[in-house]
Amino acid sequence: MKEIAHKLISWYQHNKRDLPWRNTQDPYKIWLSEIILQQTRVEQGMPYYLHFIEKYPTVLDLAKAPEEEVLRSWQGLGYYSRARNLHFAAKEVVAIYKGQFPNTYEEIIKLKGIGEYTAAAIASFAFKEPKAVVDGNVFRLLSRLFNINTAINTGAGKKEFTLLANQLIDQSKPDLFNQAIMEFGAMQCKPKPICDTCPFQSICLAFEMQNIDTLPVKLNKLKIKERYFHYFHIEHDGGIYLNRRIEKDIWQHLYEMPLIESTSEMTEEQIMQSDAWKNIFADAKITIHHISDNLKHILTHQRIFAKFWKLSIGPEWHQNQALYQYVKDDELKIFPLPRLIELYFQKNT
Ligand code: SF4
Repeated sequence: MKEIAHKLISWYQHNKRDLPWRNTQDPYKIWLSEIILQQTRVEQGMPYYLHFIEKYPTVLDLAKAPEEEVLRSWQGLGYYSRARNLHFAAKEVVAIYKGQFPNTYEEIIKLKGIGEYTAAAIASFAFKEPKAVVDGNVFRLLSRLFNINTAINTGAGKKEFTLLANQLIDQSKPDLFNQAIMEFGAMQCKPKPICDTCPFQSICLAFEMQNIDTLPVKLNKLKIKERYFHYFHIEHDGGIYLNRRIEKDIWQHLYEMPLIESTSEMTEEQIMQSDAWKNIFADAKITIHHISDNLKHILTHQRIFAKFWKLSIGPEWHQNQALYQYVKDDELKIFPLPRLIELYFQKNT
């Protein structure tokens, strides 16, 4: 076991990428980078990390910022619950820990939005606590090195791999070990691994048994949900209407245009005859200028098909409607928007 840790650290010291969050022991910056990099590629996450560090240099600065501003800074990165939790946890650090980031795994994991992986990363990188990180890269490397067939997205799998990673960790250099094992999975034991130059080739059981391609095992539990969105771009006197999403759903607390949603495709006539249409427009006189093609927007568990209707409506509707917030075009930039809406505006305004 010690041999593996030693080789990983040595490999890391010769091959690591120079990433800005690796040159700090500030738990706040480490936390930011870890949250930003969840489900996000390094190249995509980097500008967001740099922007956050500049705009909110300390946890106190982040805690003081309005939530809408934080969401706006996050715009385009997706999985907005990460930003909401980040902001909430920053306020917890200020309220409970007087602005000092907690310094043990047990305390860190109590913060909102911080799971086992992130708590282990912060505790080991910032405070050298020997807690192993287990992310997708670690699952992949360990499953191959030890030829483990337990599915990684099951409770049993998480337990088995976490135990193994904690047996492997270098107790005196847990920060380096954790960085090394993740980097090795990201750079060498990739989905298509580079076995030719791998320092573990002689002991890798999957390599010996030639079943690298089947590992790690993952149960296919994901059911993709299809949703059909009809958005109404209602232009009026140099502005449009927006609605804040409040339900526990995708894009919570972000803004969008008035929407009719369905679980199957509906024709334009069906939309105009629906109760949802009457709820929004009542008997208002409507001129439809344009209806876009279906735009496909893919999220992890959902496939969204969106159509954008460009409309103008008679004056009574504007005086009487109470459902939506009227926003002047030049104020639009302060509202956090889902990427789908942002892209639409980029192409259509
Ligand atoms: Fe991964 Fe190949 Fe190295 Fe095995 S030999 S650990 S599969 S890179």
